[in-house]
Amino acid sequence: KASSETGWNLDNSYAQLPGSFFTRLKPTAVPSPKLIIFNEPLAVSLGLNVLELQSQEGITVLAGNRVPEGSLPLAQAYAGHQFGHFTMLGDGRALLIGEQITPCSERVDIQLKGSGRTPYSRRGDGRATLGPMLREYIISEAMSALGIPTTRSLAVVTTGESVFRETELPGAILTRVAASHLRVGTFQYVSNWCSIEELRVLADYTLNRHFPDIEDVENPYLLLLKEVVRRQAKLIAKWQLVGFVHGVMNTDNMALSGETIDYGPCAFMDTYDPDTVFSSIDVQGRYAYGNQPYIAGWNLARFAETLLPLLHINEAQAVELAQDAISDFTGLYRHYWLAGMRSKLGLSNEESQDETLIESLLNMMRKYRGDYTNTFRALTLGKPGESALFDSREFTLWHEQWQARQARQQEGKAAMVELMQNFNPAVIPRNHRVEEALEAAVKHEDYSVMKKLLQVLSSPYVYSSEQEDYSMLPEPSEHPYRTFCGT
Ligand code: AMP
Ligand code: MG
Ligand code: MG
Repeated sequence: KASSETGWNLDNSYAQLPGSFFTRLKPTAVPSPKLIIFNEPLAVSLGLNVLELQSQEGITVLAGNRVPEGSLPLAQAYAGHQFGHFTMLGDGRALLIGEQITPCSERVDIQLKGSGRTPYSRRGDGRATLGPMLREYIISEAMSALGIPTTRSLAVVTTGESVFRETELPGAILTRVAASHLRVGTFQYVSNWCSIEELRVLADYTLNRHFPDIEDVENPYLLLLKEVVRRQAKLIAKWQLVGFVHGVMNTDNMALSGETIDYGPCAFMDTYDPDTVFSSIDVQGRYAYGNQPYIAGWNLARFAETLLPLLHINEAQAVELAQDAISDFTGLYRHYWLAGMRSKLGLSNEESQDETLIESLLNMMRKYRGDYTNTFRALTLGKPGESALFDSREFTLWHEQWQARQARQQEGKAAMVELMQNFNPAVIPRNHRVEEALEAAVKHEDYSVMKKLLQVLSSPYVYSSEQEDYSMLPEPSEHPYRTFCGT
């Protein structure tokens, strides 16, 4: 029952799972919590009392100094392939506070990130710093507004404690809201270190929580695999369509719910280039923009491996079923991507040559170093301005082909423009804008830049003059933009 005073309505289904899946412990208290940013619309949708939660008393919950009524805090165990290498991980600096049952009867994880050490911290301090937590807040909320499944950000508080990285930085805690924190890595952990019975418990839990429609089928675990494959194909297509580079697609950072999770070194691509990498540690380009679909398939194969004992008693047959399910990924991904690209070009029916039309646009974008978002934005606005790409003879020819293609569909011009507007964001969180907001916040305690940015990013598909400024590219720089793993 929701507390009428605070709105907390927590359940703890994860805490009922086998004890080896987690460690129960409380957040480590911090000296002087201060609320930096609070997501009021999200809080309302969760059924929380927005005034109470922002009060001195409410903030103590967001800082981990007090757990809300009904909470059984715990750190989840998981493993994962990090850049291809398998290792034991777990919530090293995060705690699941509980599962909030929303007024719409949805169940979502409430997690504090940066809440202190846990048995899975290894050499880490269990803490997080303000810049990266605000970065996660901005980008996850931007992704949500773009219509991409993602974990959400409820609040960021500073702790009043310094955290030591390369320099001394303000400590912070992010409250993350997720459909769940079940990951490929959760299955890897249980598959490696627990019994088959426990693996089945985890699989049943996942089915029940995310795929309640799968019931009474002959092989529910095969369907679980297939549905996870489908959701990932859909998700990665959405990333590709907006130019999002996750940056650290380790198997522990792939959520089974199909949400984008773990905003560390992620960033949006400006100039279209499949080789785009932002993360300073991704020297091989394993997680480059153009490699993301391939990596998703690789991660899903790791997930499939964990399910083998549940798929069939005969191992060879289990392998065959798993391989079959995994091989669907490429086709599904292509299907979702192509459908999205057609919409980006205002095409509402299908022709066999569409793929060629799309590929030639992308090839030109690459050759003339066109900005990914702004190229589609200009096509949507119907006024390609001056640029190497738009001034080229190839583009003129392509544009004629595109116009001819449009003429072969029923929809009128207005419907086409509307379709394009719904699929081509006018604004994305441009790296220089995000950096500018973080610098004002962290260095000068000025949060107005971030709040303005968040406001603009909250309606990316509404083409307005207010967004003009935010669609501008950064000044040319000799140094490529670099990101760092969320610290
Ligand atoms: P990530 O790269 O964010 O997926 O994190 C990889 C692993 O490192 C996870 O198990 C995290 O919980 C852990 N980790 C990251 N930062 C810290 C920290 N400051 N203290 C303890 N554990 C951490
Ligand atoms: Mg992670
Ligand atoms: Mg991280």
